[in-house]
Amino acid sequence: AGGAAAPPPRQCVLDPRSELRVEVPPDAPLRVRLVAGTAEIFGTELPPEGWVPIPPRSKIAIFTWHGATLELDGVTESEYPSEETPMVIYVNTHAILDARRARARAAAAQGGDLEASQVQGPRVIVVGPTDSGKSTLCKMLLSWAAKLGWKPTYVDLDIGQGSITIPGCISATPIEKPIDIVDGIPLEMPLVYFYGHPTPSINADVYKVLMKELAKTLERQFSGNAESRAAGMVINTMGWVEGLGYELLLNAIETFKANVVLVLGQEKLWKMLKDAVQSKPNIDVVKLQKSEGVVLRNSKYRQKTRSFRIKEYFYGIANDLAPHSNIVNFSDVSVYRIGGGHQAPRSALPIGAEPVADPTRLVAVNISTDMIHTVLAISYAKEPDEIISSNVAGFIHVTDVDIQRKKLTYIAPCPGDLPSRLLIASSLTWYEA
Ligand code: ATP
Repeated sequence: AGGAAAPPPRQCVLDPRSELRVEVPPDAPLRVRLVAGTAEIFGTELPPEGWVPIPPRSKIAIFTWHGATLELDGVTESEYPSEETPMVIYVNTHAILDARRARARAAAAQGGDLEASQVQGPRVIVVGPTDSGKSTLCKMLLSWAAKLGWKPTYVDLDIGQGSITIPGCISATPIEKPIDIVDGIPLEMPLVYFYGHPTPSINADVYKVLMKELAKTLERQFSGNAESRAAGMVINTMGWVEGLGYELLLNAIETFKANVVLVLGQEKLWKMLKDAVQSKPNIDVVKLQKSEGVVLRNSKYRQKTRSFRIKEYFYGIANDLAPHSNIVNFSDVSVYRIGGGHQAPRSALPIGAEPVADPTRLVAVNISTDMIHTVLAISYAKEPDEIISSNVAGFIHVTDVDIQRKKLTYIAPCPGDLPSRLLIASSLTWYEA
């Protein structure tokens, strides 16, 4: 990267049902243009005219059903066409889900004495090891559904590489139109619960409680909205599929009442899940081929992406936002940590009593210089004891802590006072370069 002269604009002719796989470098722009035919990026059609900027660091496939001529302008780390894709299988899966949505809508329109399951559209959960293409399949299923006028709910349980907001969160948002190639998932009204760490093992009980809260809120929203109930959900999960990770997948299937489990790229996981849900009626566990185009990302890369996601929250995808710096007195805010509180030492307990740690206990945290560079979430809770059951309004990034003057300096994406004085601490950090 850096210094290499950009190649001249070039054309690429794609056969029907093939894709051009492209990796964009972190620091050089790329744009693509449809010259002839039709093509889509992960379920979203390229506009018939005009250049589309592809964000830095993107790894994408431009797929065509009927053939296309593309023009590329800019630098890529790699670009190659492929005719071997699982897209036909994926779109067939979409067609089955679509039929289920139509059935749910028709049942709801008929009215009468109906069971909830009759008016409930598909609740799809996509599972598989890391880099099996889960997020990508979710995007495609959502964009194809939205293109047909459905408004499915996207639920992202991946706290490591989530696609809705910053890492460390589980969140949901309705998808009302195909996902924008440049802007990604719309952020107007996401429902976000803050876990605060990139891996669930730090406090799996809190992760489970937050899933429950999110599911409860969605259930409430669906009960008043037949349209989104019929459209259903597409749920993205973590790539951790062994041990505790597997247990959390089962927990997610149950919590969100998933009725379609799509397993990407791992026979063993498919078999395990199939056996595990066997006794439950009406859950289909389907094995799907993974795409060879999915790009492998090592842990260093993942760590980097996490930090970019945090930066993006404050500075915008194209570095086009200016965050606002602000100062509060320590006394103006209360910072809490959910769980992770160390259990009482044995010496502090009555003789014979066993120390019991409540893993979801709320712990008040003193503001200290350790907080510099970390992210704090702003809770919608009115009282501290509501924090775990409340979603969050947004995030701030601590840039300085002045112990002497008892002042905390932070940046936020919007100007003005904090919408709440209750903040949640996290282990998520980002260092301004
Ligand atoms: P994780 O569990 O680690 O979050 P995942 O299973 O959700 O990963 P994705 O995020 O869908 O995997 O895919 C990994 C990367 O590969 C992404 O950057 C995605 O854009 C890219 N990718 C997916 N499919 C293709 C393809 N057909 N061609 C090129 N790149 C692709």
